[in-house]
Amino acid sequence: MSPFDLNVHPHRRFNPLTQEWVLVSPHRAQRPWQGQVELAPPEVSRVYDPNCYLCPGNARVGGTKNPEYKGTFVFDNDFAALLPDTPSGELREKELLLARSETGRCRVVCFSPRHDVTLARMEAVEIRAVIDTWCDEYSKLGSMPNVRSVQIFENRGAMMGCSNPHPHGQIWANESVPDELAREVTAQQDHFQRHKSNLLEDYLALEMEKKERLVCVTEHFVVVVPFWAVWPFETLLISRRRVSSLVELREAERDGLAKILRQLMIRYDNLFKAPFPYTMGFHQRPTGEAPFPEFQLHAHFYPPLLRSATIRKFMVGYEMLAMPQRDISPELVAAQLRDLPDIHYLRAK
Ligand SMILES: [Zn+2]
Ligand SMILES: [Zn+2]
Repeated sequence: MSPFDLNVHPHRRFNPLTQEWVLVSPHRAQRPWQGQVELAPPEVSRVYDPNCYLCPGNARVGGTKNPEYKGTFVFDNDFAALLPDTPSGELREKELLLARSETGRCRVVCFSPRHDVTLARMEAVEIRAVIDTWCDEYSKLGSMPNVRSVQIFENRGAMMGCSNPHPHGQIWANESVPDELAREVTAQQDHFQRHKSNLLEDYLALEMEKKERLVCVTEHFVVVVPFWAVWPFETLLISRRRVSSLVELREAERDGLAKILRQLMIRYDNLFKAPFPYTMGFHQRPTGEAPFPEFQLHAHFYPPLLRSATIRKFMVGYEMLAMPQRDISPELVAAQLRDLPDIHYLRAK
């Protein structure tokens, strides 16, 4: 029998940020596909859509009218999952029935007044304006008395449950630190205790040395397909300087973030020559007085696609009951993303 080889043999990989495992089955990557075929999302060509509740000047569901905004535009979600004025309380019975009140805010951020663009099709200077808006919101929400964490994210594409193509994201601010972030905070603190160094800084140094999972490398940021990626085209964007939130980024770093976001989004669209669906979001330190010096700013990109613009990955069966699983290796995906052109396919025509 041949010696253990990550490119050939089934194995488990460990995610040090969440302390979870993923099963990798590289030998199955060529398996024939007979499952569901998703419809490729249609191209949006209208700059303004009179029926879009996010376009400038249009009325939203509650009747509020959007201003004729020219850049980014932020408002409280009309169907917010969290409310700022929830009465505080707790239910606790035999440590089996436990519930706590949760206050917070849910904001919507329109990235552009144009209905037909995406981050991939915006200029770096326009993405920079989105980053500045994220920073303002993180500061404002984070300084509110009942807010412990601010989650900035974007759901893109109908496949991710986002029915409105108008470029927009969301910001949810919570009274508690959500589980995913809490796990990563603890893991980074534990790593710092044990090694007197920063988890993601150490990981980034390893990836820069090995080079096989790098996707984009710039002066201030690096994008990799993480060693422990679950989704086929999952990537992780890491700040090269140790900062724990977007607001700590210097001017040049904010510009750098705009550029690398644009580069990654273009490569994603170029992969299948179609608008690429994903959930992306930044992980930043919990807000409040404590500094969290162990925490490193990063962003996760979770695209649902498997092998074409119309075939998606499902997390079912073994993955719901045991652990996530992937076929194609993160190294192969990184090589594929690394080789894609940096000019958007619609402009290259
Ligand atoms: Zn619109
Ligand atoms: Zn994270």
